[in-house]
Amino acid sequence: MKISHIEHIGIAVPNLEEAIKYYENVLGLKCYKQEVVADQKVTTAFFKVGDTKIELLEATSPDSTIAKFIEKNGGRGGMHHMAFAVEDGVAEALAEVQEKGVKVIDKAPRKGADGLNIAFLHPKSTEAVLTELCEDPSK
Ligand code: ZN
Repeated sequence: MKISHIEHIGIAVPNLEEAIKYYENVLGLKCYKQEVVADQKVTTAFFKVGDTKIELLEATSPDSTIAKFIEKNGGRGGMHHMAFAVEDGVAEALAEVQEKGVKVIDKAPRKGADGLNIAFLHPKSTEAVLTELCEDPSK
């Protein structure tokens, strides 16, 4: 696979409005989009930092993976995942990593936030960092 850049860093937050205030008022970034991703049970907020985005994730339901992550982390948020943009497509990259014995969470690409096709690799196979592969189908 060919990774072009870090597409985004996903950060779990207990309170999206509070977190946005920090990114805007302290770091001076601008939230350009908020989006509910129903099948992941999250509300996301996006900021651009060069070619990379920050994706804040707030749970919309107690059984969301983000709610569980925050619970495990003592009620605090924190870095949740890292997402790489792959130039040759998520489906091909998934096939390639599975051939190399990597455990995957998604066996096929699915729709993620911000119009991307995404798939997650299992942290057991990725040096403990939850890893997302993504492609922008509009490019
Ligand atoms: Zn993500």
